[in-house]
Amino acid sequence: MIVINGLGVSEGIAIGNLSFRSVIRSNISRRYMVEDVDAEISRYLSAKKAAHAKLDEMYASTLKHCGEREAEIFRVHKMMIEDDDYQEDILNLIKAEHQNAEHAVDITSSKFFEMFLQIDDEYMRSRAEDVRAISRMIIDFLVGTGEEDIRNIKPGSIVFSEDISPGEISIFKQSGVAGLLVSSGSKNSHASILARVMGIPTIVDVGGGIKKEFDGKNVILDGSSGEIYIEPDEGIHRNFAKKIESMSIQNIEFEKYKGKESITKGGKKIDIYANMNNPSELSEILASDAEGIGLFRTEFLYLGRDSYPSEEEQFQIYKNLGMNMNGKKVIVRTLDIGSDKQEKYMKFPKEENPALGYRGIRVCLNNPEIFKTQLRAIYRASEYGNFSIMFPMIISYDEIREIKNLVAQVKRELREKCMKFKEDIPLGIMIETPAAAVLSDIFAKEVQFFSIGTNDLTQYALALDRQNSMVGNKFDINNEAIFRFIEIIVKNAHKENISVGICGELANDKSITERLISLGIDEFSVSPKSVLAIRKNVILSNTK
Ligand code: PEP
Ligand code: MG
Repeated sequence: MIVINGLGVSEGIAIGNLSFRSVIRSNISRRYMVEDVDAEISRYLSAKKAAHAKLDEMYASTLKHCGEREAEIFRVHKMMIEDDDYQEDILNLIKAEHQNAEHAVDITSSKFFEMFLQIDDEYMRSRAEDVRAISRMIIDFLVGTGEEDIRNIKPGSIVFSEDISPGEISIFKQSGVAGLLVSSGSKNSHASILARVMGIPTIVDVGGGIKKEFDGKNVILDGSSGEIYIEPDEGIHRNFAKKIESMSIQNIEFEKYKGKESITKGGKKIDIYANMNNPSELSEILASDAEGIGLFRTEFLYLGRDSYPSEEEQFQIYKNLGMNMNGKKVIVRTLDIGSDKQEKYMKFPKEENPALGYRGIRVCLNNPEIFKTQLRAIYRASEYGNFSIMFPMIISYDEIREIKNLVAQVKRELREKCMKFKEDIPLGIMIETPAAAVLSDIFAKEVQFFSIGTNDLTQYALALDRQNSMVGNKFDINNEAIFRFIEIIVKNAHKENISVGICGELANDKSITERLISLGIDEFSVSPKSVLAIRKNVILSNTK
């Protein structure tokens, strides 16, 4: 038995025989000098036209079998094919250098692929795979190869391929493959997204681990852990058989709740949102069927780098997010840096007790320019999505007043520059300090929503550092004190007709969903994987 590790991008277990995908593209970039440039250009244009027709076909078929969101990628691919720079490069190579069309597309593809890989944003980086996919499709039409090799794969096989395009995923699905192994790839490529949506267990980035001599051998792949077993022994087979049985019972159950409204038997509508730390998690959130994003921890945009992100950089990220969420709510939490989340360039002084120190809104109000840069980016992006803004670590009425003044300043400045934005973005606060919980009657008059951050609320209410492993076993998120706080917060919020969500870890605890609903919680923001399980609990709950 051989064990290989890759990056699991679509969970699930597959067992089957390995099928090495025949690489028929080895000669695609065969180079020759063309004499009749005009004829070569029209050869290229016909291949491009055929690629458009193919993408239309894939759009229609994916729309029918999966839905609008999943089909959208093929529209994006159509736009990418027509990108001016991409076109110009290909045509220049044919016209000026007399390159044959397939070689010109191949070179341009590699150039754009590298360019996308250099981009600092993971979501944009994964578009590199899309450039490769559209280029390959054009090349396939130029050289007359295509999807025949996929269609001939035996159902139930585990396919290994050097790379896979999004369009091929749906053909693999139709061919009945059990799982996919890919040499390269990333979690956020559209191929990975579609593999997840179509439920094909998939591991990418397996590098050179899979050897030609494994072709035809029995394989188990675990799409969650990224483990691949070549010729697994009896014991491994038994373990996986058990895993499959319990997973399938649970999944069948949860899948029934996809697309359903989250309403209790008593008729109360609950919003079930997902938490997001990084835009690279977007695909998982979309696949989770969450009704929106209840907490975007934007500080992660400021971490892992050596300077503050510019307004433009942030604007592009929020804009993309808003567009991809397609009208669903996105609650953007302004940066909550400090304590355990900081970088050298921020130059924070060393503190004895950072959790009780310089963090969250305190940093923002002390550095209005950093804060306003983020607010400007969000307001500008508001034209492209359904945003709300939420402020962390609030302890006083004065902080809320100060925030509102800065928000008003930002809006005035944008108006003066004739920049478009939505005037009425809902503003909310996190209730994650005991002070905010007990003052929530006053705060509820000032904002449009509350979101309870039970992680910090527990830390500050129980006087237990959430980072300190010495007291980790005492850090009980289910401590009764927290439920008492929740009761007070909900009562005060509802008196002023504003909604209350929970975005801390407590919301993920499936054993207390009913209790939280009966306490009056209106919204759960949980990890994408918990969305359907929580929806099931909501739908089965009797609470009015
Ligand atoms: C919380 O404190 O519960 C919360 C959601 O915020 P974070 O975990 O980012 O501090
Ligand atoms: Mg917090």
